[in-house]
Amino acid sequence: MATSKTSEAVKQITDLAGALQAPRITEAAQRLADQARDAGWTHEDYLAAVLEREVSARNASGAQARIRSAGFPAVKTLEDFDFDAQPAVRQQVAALASGAFLTEARNVVLLGPPGTGKTHLATALGVAAARHGHRVLFATATDWVTRLADAHRAGRLAAELTKLRRYGLIVVDEVGYLPFEQDAANLFFQLVSSRYEHASLVLTSNLPFSGWAGVFGDQVVAAAMIDRIVHHADVLALKGASYRLRGRGIDSLPSIRTTAETPS
Ligand code: ADP
Ligand code: MG
Repeated sequence: MATSKTSEAVKQITDLAGALQAPRITEAAQRLADQARDAGWTHEDYLAAVLEREVSARNASGAQARIRSAGFPAVKTLEDFDFDAQPAVRQQVAALASGAFLTEARNVVLLGPPGTGKTHLATALGVAAARHGHRVLFATATDWVTRLADAHRAGRLAAELTKLRRYGLIVVDEVGYLPFEQDAANLFFQLVSSRYEHASLVLTSNLPFSGWAGVFGDQVVAAAMIDRIVHHADVLALKGASYRLRGRGIDSLPSIRTTAETPS
């Protein structure tokens, strides 16, 4: 029941919310005021409820913007993932979903044959990170190296690495599909080093760590890289046949056995 005094107050709230660029406060103020009167809320309860509407709407639109700008090949979520196909990682992934690994600058490595959900889970962890307020960038290992090589040529590699450290999460998909030249391996090593104990990486690979020497062309570089990546990391081993081939009467492809050469 709005008296002229309350309707004046509502108008003032609308103006003030406009000045704050907080449109949800305008929407919530009147509706929650009625609810507050009916339910006998304290002034503090009411103010908290109104502010909460604005903050949660801002977080949601911030998350949407972070998800859009992350560069995911397709948006996939943990809710979309069928853990019955990968029961061994269910608990590990549930623990990662809280986003605590990001504040601890821990890494996640997803290993497994093609089609087992590595890109899906890497994306889903990225989406969860964006929802937790972290900036995220997703690209394949090859794309990361191209980006770093461009920066290096332009004399701004250090600046690029500093800029990337402001992202709470960088996803490196498909480590191992293409072997790196020595320069590329060194650039990739710099990316890993610059994030070590500062910000998280999620990496996916179809190769076990023992196969990484072949990717980085050098046992010493590969060992130093793996050392930094796994020092604070969760390693998730995905198993089994390709999810893509389910229900098609094909249990496996010859290429699945020789994981190294098959992009997916
Ligand atoms: P990988 O990167 O390991 O080759 P992807 O993550 O690209 O595999 O998975 C291939 C396709 O199958 C994607 O469309 C992905 O969403 C889907 N997929 C894979 N595993 C699952 C799963 N357990 N539940 C739901 N979808 C899955
Ligand atoms: Mg993939």
